[in-house]
Amino acid sequence: MTQPPAQETAAHRTAARQHPALTATDPELAALVTAEERLQADTLRLIPSENYVSTAVLEASGTVLQNKYSEGYPGRRYYEGQQNIDQVERLAVARAKALFGTDHANVQPYSGSPANLAVYLAFAEPGDTVMGMALPMGGHLTHGWGVSATGKWFRGVQYAVRQDTGLVDFDAVRELALKERPKLIFCGGTALPRTIDFAAFAEIARESGAVLVADIAHIAGLVAGGAHPSPVPHADVISTTTHKTLRGPRGAMLLAREEHAKAIDKAVFPGLQGGPHNQTTAAIAVALHEAAQPSFRGYAHAVVANAKALAEALLARGFDLVSGGTDNHLVLMDLTPKDVPGKVAAKALDRAGIVVNYNTVPYDPRKPFDPSGVRIGTPSLTSRGLGTEHMAAVADWIDRGVRAAGTGDEDALLKIRGEVAELMAAFPAPGLPTA
Ligand SMILES: *Cc1c(COP(=O)(O)O)cnc(C)c1O
Repeated sequence: MTQPPAQETAAHRTAARQHPALTATDPELAALVTAEERLQADTLRLIPSENYVSTAVLEASGTVLQNKYSEGYPGRRYYEGQQNIDQVERLAVARAKALFGTDHANVQPYSGSPANLAVYLAFAEPGDTVMGMALPMGGHLTHGWGVSATGKWFRGVQYAVRQDTGLVDFDAVRELALKERPKLIFCGGTALPRTIDFAAFAEIARESGAVLVADIAHIAGLVAGGAHPSPVPHADVISTTTHKTLRGPRGAMLLAREEHAKAIDKAVFPGLQGGPHNQTTAAIAVALHEAAQPSFRGYAHAVVANAKALAEALLARGFDLVSGGTDNHLVLMDLTPKDVPGKVAAKALDRAGIVVNYNTVPYDPRKPFDPSGVRIGTPSLTSRGLGTEHMAAVADWIDRGVRAAGTGDEDALLKIRGEVAELMAAFPAPGLPTA
């Protein structure tokens, strides 16, 4: 074997210190983990669906709970030896119900997409009509979009946002719902910078006889922390991931009123899944405990304050923002006026140490794999302790980065990368080893 480059050797040395067993067994993999730790430490992570979990959440998800099979639910398992696992799941369920104020919680879905599929299984038959926001408008694949199983096995009809305001057009939503009579109506999405009007959706669902599903995958942490209105009084079912603003492990939950509890549980198991990932259930319980602390309310509100400050700073630098700004953790930039395609900008910003994703904007004339927009958000930087006073600098880096993308100025990108790393070093991220 050839000698690894110097930088790789340094990664191996750090890996040996941080992950001794892994390094002894599989140094190649251990070095990749260490390199990822470095990357997450040094860069400004602006992808709105990402976050940094706490060391406690990391520890819970790396436990021997993962060695156990537990098909079924607490007290009703198909395997023996559940003395501890039942308590872990009961704890997670009780904390979910208390935090969100729901009658019922199922914490077993493997992730957001299977959680949503379980909702279809619970309330619809193949071929039934379902309704959600169109993917290019900010909806999610699993809300009946054509390339998804949910759009192949069900008849998806889609609503949009208004081109002039970037906001949901509720008159059009009502008209479509009354015409199509869908079994399910999904609200929520992946690129929505504004408050979701759950009451308005609930009224339309009632009028049209649909089950309302609030998919709060992105905003669950804001809801838990009181920085976004709760769907609980309005939605029949609430679906959420646990790894976005909620700051837990990769996983999901379904929350519902008692009348839907049985249908939801049956759909998750045995309808869709086998054994739950108990180590994830444990980490969800830890994250829910953290989210119930007063400091998490502060976090949720700081995420929103940072996003608003960042939006203002971007507007001041001539950026075009979908809907003109934000109410939550997310900002969607339309780079058309900057004359830089979203993908070109996203890749240049990545080289500058600013991690974003390119994204369609509503009524995008460009293709989904080469769209006009860039999607950013503040959950991760807020977890590191950055505040509104830092948002002008962040906007400035984005501005310089997008301009450098347009002119192909790699030196300018490298210079930004150094400045970013310097600020990041002053704000260590939760869960990451300190160098
Ligand atoms: C992220 C997300 C999902 C899917 O979650 P995965 O865990 O990636 O499967 C579903 N719905 C919405 C609105 C999301 O943002």
